Amino acid sequence: MQNILSVLSQHEPLQHAACTQPVTAGEVWLVGAGPGDVELLTIKALRAISCADVVVFDRLVSAPVMALIPETALQIDAGKSTRHHTLDQGEINQLLVDMARLGHKVVRLKGGDPFIFGRGGEEMQHCQQAGIICHVVPGITAAVGCAAASGIPLTHRDIAQSVRFVTGHTRQGEPDIYWQGLAETKQTLVFYMGLTHNATLSQKLIHHGLAASTPVAIIERGTQPTQRVLIGTLSTLAMLAERHAVASPALLIIGHVVGLHSSMQNHIQQAG
Ligand code: SAH
Repeated sequence: MQNILSVLSQHEPLQHAACTQPVTAGEVWLVGAGPGDVELLTIKALRAISCADVVVFDRLVSAPVMALIPETALQIDAGKSTRHHTLDQGEINQLLVDMARLGHKVVRLKGGDPFIFGRGGEEMQHCQQAGIICHVVPGITAAVGCAAASGIPLTHRDIAQSVRFVTGHTRQGEPDIYWQGLAETKQTLVFYMGLTHNATLSQKLIHHGLAASTPVAIIERGTQPTQRVLIGTLSTLAMLAERHAVASPALLIIGHVVGLHSSMQNHIQQAG
C-alpha cells in the first residue's frame, strides 16, 4: 500500500487529496469504506486512512480495510448496531468535533458510502455548526457492491428503468413507507437493513400490487469472501431468510433484474 501511495503522491492533481499537506488545524474526514472488499476502497479513502491521527469506525468496516489504519492512529469503535450502541449518535458527533479541536486529523470510517443510510449528513452538519472543516470521501455503497458481486444489474433498459434505495428500518423500528410508490413494475428495489422486517416488507409489497412471484435476492456479506447470495421470490423471502439463517449485514434486491443474476457463480444458492 505504501508503494501505491508514494506513486500517487508524484501525481500533481492528486497531491491535495490528503496528507501530502500537513494539517495545521484539526479536520474531520467522513470516509466511505465500501462494502467490504478492500480493493473497492477509493484511492482518496486509502490516503485519508493512511494519514489519520484518529479513526472512529463502525461495525460494517471490514477487517482488511481496518488493517490499513496506521498503528500510530487512535482507533475508536463507534459500534453502530440497531440493538447495541457503543456510542450514541450525539456522542459520536461530539467526539468528532472534540478530536478535531485537539488538532487531530479525524477519519470517520463508515461502511459503504457515508451519505447512504450512514448518518454522514448528521455528522457533517454537526461539524459545520461547530466550525470544523468536514470533508466527505464517497464509498461504494452496499447496493452497488452487492449487485456487482452477484451479477445482478440494478437497471436494465427492458426490465428496470429506475432503482430505489430504501431503508427497512427507521428510528421507530418498522419502516414507515409509501408502499404504493414502491410496488411499481419496471423498477428495482434495494432494501438496506431489511432483514428484521423482511416478512412485513414482502407482505406489504404484495398487498400493494407487486406479484408474489417477483424475484428477490438476499445478499449476505456482499463482496466479502464469505458472501452468500440466495435467490427466491417475494412470497418465499421470509422462508428463505429463516431457512438459511441469514445474518446481518444483508441486502435485499427485489425486481425482475434479479432473474439476470450470474448463474455461473456457484456460490449462488437457488431456492424456491
Ligand atoms: N452506508 C452503508 C449502509 C449502512 S446501513 C452503505 O452505503 O452501504 C447498513 C445496511 O447496509 C446493512 O443492514 C445492510 O443492509 C447493508 N450492507 C452494508 N454492507 C453490506 C454488505 N457487505 N453486504 C450486504 N449488505 C450490506
